Amino acid sequence: MYIDSAYLQRTEESNIDDIEQLFTCSICEGILNKPYQCKICQNNFCEHCIKEWEEKNHSCPMRCSNYSFEENICLFNLLSNILFFKCQKGCGTIIPYSKLEEHINYTCPNVNIQDFRQKFEDLSVEFENYKIRFETKKYTNLKLKKCYENLIVENAEIKAQIRSYENVINELNFQKLYDLGEINLNNLIQRIDKNIVFEKEDLIDEKIFTKLNIEKIKRENNILNRKNERLENKIKLLK
Ligand SMILES: [Zn+2]
Ligand SMILES: [Zn+2]
Ligand SMILES: [Zn+2]
Repeated sequence: MYIDSAYLQRTEESNIDDIEQLFTCSICEGILNKPYQCKICQNNFCEHCIKEWEEKNHSCPMRCSNYSFEENICLFNLLSNILFFKCQKGCGTIIPYSKLEEHINYTCPNVNIQDFRQKFEDLSVEFENYKIRFETKKYTNLKLKKCYENLIVENAEIKAQIRSYENVINELNFQKLYDLGEINLNNLIQRIDKNIVFEKEDLIDEKIFTKLNIEKIKRENNILNRKNERLENKIKLLK
């Protein structure tokens, strides 16, 4: 609500010119209505003025490099103690600053019942909108929660799957190496059985190759045993 300084009630202690200068909103140029202060430049603006400004401009009206506004409760209390207004609807009541909006909109005997009904309707619509927004957010939140819970379960399933794949892969690797070594050994045995004459170097090569492969398999086997033991321990811990 725009507060017109023309309706300020002059008292002996207050000098209206000073009040106008000190407590004017630089956006609407009326008396500050629910003052909000910029934390940087400390200028005050009406709550509705600064919220509208912030939404459009994303800045402080005084061009502060940084900006953030907070309700100036001290100033509101001060204004509540020193400012009084004549009713602009002409009912003759002298209204304290803190009751001005309530009086003009609702409690003044000159408030048109039609206006009052309209305001009530507007408020009801606003209330319904908030309710819908609240319900939508609640619904989204529940959906996200369910999704999160499902992900936790899926994650555990995937982990278990990976573990079983790891075991299969380890077994396959071991089998492959073992097969390779056996094929070489069998070749050697077959050649000996068939009395195939080996060159001395040939035999040595073959023997070394087979021996190396067997050593390799033994090593791999040991590594795999240790790996499997570790995996089994991990699985035990998970159980
Ligand atoms: Zn204003
Ligand atoms: Zn500022
Ligand atoms: Zn009135």
